[in-house]
Amino acid sequence: MNIKEKDSLYIANTYGRFPLVLTKGKGSKVMDEEGKEYIDLATGIAVNSFGYCDDEWTNAINSQLNTLQHTSNLYYSKPCVELAELLCEKTGMKKVFFSNSGAEANECAIKVARKYAADKKGSDYNTIITLKNSFHGRTITTLAATGQDVFHKDFLPLTQGFAYVEANNCDELVKTVENGKIAAIMFETVQGEGGINPLTEEFVKTIFDLAEKYDIITIADEVQTGNGRTGELYGFMNYGVLPDIFSTAKGLGGGLPIGATVLSEKTKDVLKSGDHGSTFGGNPVACAGAISILKRIDCKLLNEVKQKSQYIVETLSKCNEVKSVTGKGLMLGIETVKDAGQIIAECQQRGVLVIKAKNKVRLLPALNIPFDELKKAINILCEVIEE
Ligand SMILES: *Cc1c(COP(=O)(O)O)cnc(C)c1O
Repeated sequence: MNIKEKDSLYIANTYGRFPLVLTKGKGSKVMDEEGKEYIDLATGIAVNSFGYCDDEWTNAINSQLNTLQHTSNLYYSKPCVELAELLCEKTGMKKVFFSNSGAEANECAIKVARKYAADKKGSDYNTIITLKNSFHGRTITTLAATGQDVFHKDFLPLTQGFAYVEANNCDELVKTVENGKIAAIMFETVQGEGGINPLTEEFVKTIFDLAEKYDIITIADEVQTGNGRTGELYGFMNYGVLPDIFSTAKGLGGGLPIGATVLSEKTKDVLKSGDHGSTFGGNPVACAGAISILKRIDCKLLNEVKQKSQYIVETLSKCNEVKSVTGKGLMLGIETVKDAGQIIAECQQRGVLVIKAKNKVRLLPALNIPFDELKKAINILCEVIEE
């Protein structure tokens, strides 16, 4: 049996996979089992921030792996504390809870917001507003937070206490806040799985104005937008705001599982001893890798991300058959006349990996993709779109 046949026999049927078996990679290039090489503009869904097997990242991991691989949270260990310090210093936040995925990072954010509201305003103030078309994860609670019925339908009842507002609809947001007992507002600054839809300045300002007026916790889900992806270190930085909580995962680990729930002055001491936990959270190997990623996301790198973004947007906007290009930094969605699935398949044949977000072609290249590789891949993408 080949890998594809074994996969369909032994792996639960939850994924629709592309017909490629990837075997090894370096930088922004990856190879399949037949030895064909691809330029990767998807990075394992915004995870491989510095591409495949980046030297600095693998060295950081190897050296930690050969020293101490796991401690549990019953003991102190250096890498997780140093990563937390770095996250706080770079953002103005105050404390961090570590877990292993985006969904878990959001679960913790939701628990903190509920507890804050219960302590301050009473336990009936438990509603969390999220946005229609959002994506916050696959656990029963983060599914409830996800404002898309398609993900809900077979798994009811979900966790109670979520209300959904249309993204960028300020009036609906104001009404929902005024008519409810609201603990928190949770949002992605650029909706990822929902189709690469950025929030407007006005909408983000409305969220923060309402939050201040009614003592509502703001939660930025930075799982996909975080860690340099949008051209700023975190997506909220594009809007000049600081949330009470942000969650991040994907690109923070650079390829190993990690989740972080990052807490502000206001929320840092809401959880007390015993309120939350994780066996693997703060794992030294994952944290050592994350430190090597986060410390390199500086102004110079972010400027490169912005330049590459501008190049992609300008090139694709000139390309016939492109209806729109949305997103920020190296998180871009391309709406095309031609079917996105067909574009993805033809790009694969021509040695370029791109993925989908709703009806759009989604680009999430490595932050450090060399300009010549990016140009080559975008030219192929344009040709495929126009063919
Ligand atoms: C991917 C994603 C998640 C879920 O992360 P997992 O690591 O798959 O649990 C949550 N929120 C957003 C915005 C995401 O893009």
